[in-house]
Amino acid sequence: LAALLKTGLTADCTGLDIEEETGNLLQTRPAIGGNIMATIKTPNHRPQMATVRPKTFSPLIEDYESKGELVNFDVTQDLVQTGAKLIEFHPIGEGQKGVQDAEVIIAGGMGLRKVENMEPVYRLSKMINGTVGASRKIVDSKWIGHEAQVGLSGHTVKPKIYIAAGISGAVQHIAGMQTAEFIVAINRDRNAAIFNFADIGLVGDAVEILTELAESLESEVKR
Ligand SMILES: Cc1cc2nc3c(=O)[nH]c(=O)nc-3n(C[C@H](O)[C@H](O)[C@H](O)COP(=O)(O)OP(=O)(O)OC[C@H]3O[C@@H](n4cnc5c(N)ncnc54)[C@H](O)[C@@H]3O)c2cc1C
Repeated sequence: LAALLKTGLTADCTGLDIEEETGNLLQTRPAIGGNIMATIKTPNHRPQMATVRPKTFSPLIEDYESKGELVNFDVTQDLVQTGAKLIEFHPIGEGQKGVQDAEVIIAGGMGLRKVENMEPVYRLSKMINGTVGASRKIVDSKWIGHEAQVGLSGHTVKPKIYIAAGISGAVQHIAGMQTAEFIVAINRDRNAAIFNFADIGLVGDAVEILTELAESLESEVKR
């Protein structure tokens, strides 16, 4: 559409603003492999167009009184002309929602220490109908697939509850989960950055705390 209108487009924005003096749209997005946040302006062309990274913004309530015409239409396959070809399809694990659509996420980080210690994460996740997420470090260590990665080079998520277990709270991770409605952080280090973003912080061993939580929920269910 941008090409047809002979204008520019900034894709995958994580922040949008308007420059008061000029009316330029300020389009912020990660650049150079996510190492910097670049703010892009298109002063010479109109209209100004941008797309946003899923879950970065809460959708507005439709306002038919606003300036401009609001048109709803279904996007069907025949409307999309693409040179892309489907080579393989890898579904997400059975019964697992993708992290992007999950309402409850239990994310593990390097503080779990070894892949076997992911077990209480899955166990608790099953108990509360959650989805397992991950920091990049454990994805890079191949404990879990990239589809679970939360953060700048992973997914941006907006669940009702986000439990971060053994995750330090690096800016690149925070960028993907700070829009969660309620954040629980578990970390052995009481000065860990993740606690600055948490609604509840639990200082202690992540494996012990997750196991205890799962056990107490399991015994509640048995009653
Ligand atoms: C361009 C770029 C993009 C990136 N994109 C992403 C991204 O999308 N997502 C992402 O997550 N990262 C991303 N990163 C990496 C990021 O900078 C961090 O390296 C990563 O998030 C750290 O992962 P972590 O918190 O699991 O591990 P660590 O930094 O090693 O932290 C482990 C934490 O566990 C705690 N801990 C240790 N033992 C225990 C225990 N027994 N119980 C409880 N807590 C314990 C420690 O105190 C520490 O806080 C990116 C980096 C770059 C440069």
